[in-house]
Amino acid sequence: MTGSVTGGVTRGRARELAAELLPTLRAFAIPLRNKFRGITVREGALLRGPAGWGEFSPFAEYGPAESARWLASAIESAVAGWPEPVRDRVGVNVTVPAVDPVRAHEIVARSGCRTAKVKVAEPGQGVADDVERVAAVRDALGPAGQIRVDANGAWSVEAAARALGRLAGFGLEYAEQPCATLDELARLRRMTDVPLAADESIRKASDPLAVRAAGAADIVVLKVAPLGGVRRALAVAAGCGLPVVVSSAVESSVGLAAGVALAAALPELRYDCGLATATMLTGDVTGQPLLPVAGTLPARRVAADFERVATWECDPEPWRRRVLAAAQFLD
Ligand SMILES: [Mg+2]
Repeated sequence: MTGSVTGGVTRGRARELAAELLPTLRAFAIPLRNKFRGITVREGALLRGPAGWGEFSPFAEYGPAESARWLASAIESAVAGWPEPVRDRVGVNVTVPAVDPVRAHEIVARSGCRTAKVKVAEPGQGVADDVERVAAVRDALGPAGQIRVDANGAWSVEAAARALGRLAGFGLEYAEQPCATLDELARLRRMTDVPLAADESIRKASDPLAVRAAGAADIVVLKVAPLGGVRRALAVAAGCGLPVVVSSAVESSVGLAAGVALAAALPELRYDCGLATATMLTGDVTGQPLLPVAGTLPARRVAADFERVATWECDPEPWRRRVLAAAQFLD
């Protein structure tokens, strides 16, 4: 990676800042409503600086080098704040897990969102299940709503081409990570008219450029924390030149606010974002969580509130150690 890891913070100062913020660290562990990425509890830490709160919540298996980008994002949030927004609210999608059609209809109808992201290619299910679910979602949204499907890389090229051939009849905005590799995505892209979005293929700043070079996708899904903050994500979006969908890493509302800040600051935002994930957690670190109203989220700071944090508080020591280890990889 070239240039400073920590956008908005003077080069070389990031490590010092991490140490300075350490005494403010509060660690949390909030149970999830449903299992996600194999975890049942979302754990992380909050740091408070002159600009407000920042969230540092790399997943448990991430080592210090990868976690450094998450730390850079937390430091940006706590110390530098975010670039000026060009819109004050951003549209968000409702997420429909691999549930039966009746439940899928209910989830969408209740959400108030005009865009739905529908999980497909669930292990143990077939294309018929996907077709029924997407049909129910189309019925709930009406013809003006947008449907995107997410396969989390589970299909082969041939299976994806067949499935998208059947699902396209319901009107798909795009298909997210239908296959696992860039090579497969590029092959599929030549076989289908459904636009493709790369999600799992993008974990670091150089990935979107590789996606574009491979001709593997029409859209990139960007998450603030793994890219090292709002400014870095803006630079990645500009450098990549593909339309962006901003998504969350299922953070608390403090972390989600950084995602909204990115979506609000992008010069162009063609697609609704995957940031309505606060409800995946059974609680939050603030009394004013980022929950969608009429399918949108406001661009605003979120302050952690001490009582709420106390409800979910856990031992800060392992998180202090993770901050210090990750800080060694900040430049
Ligand atoms: Mg995805």
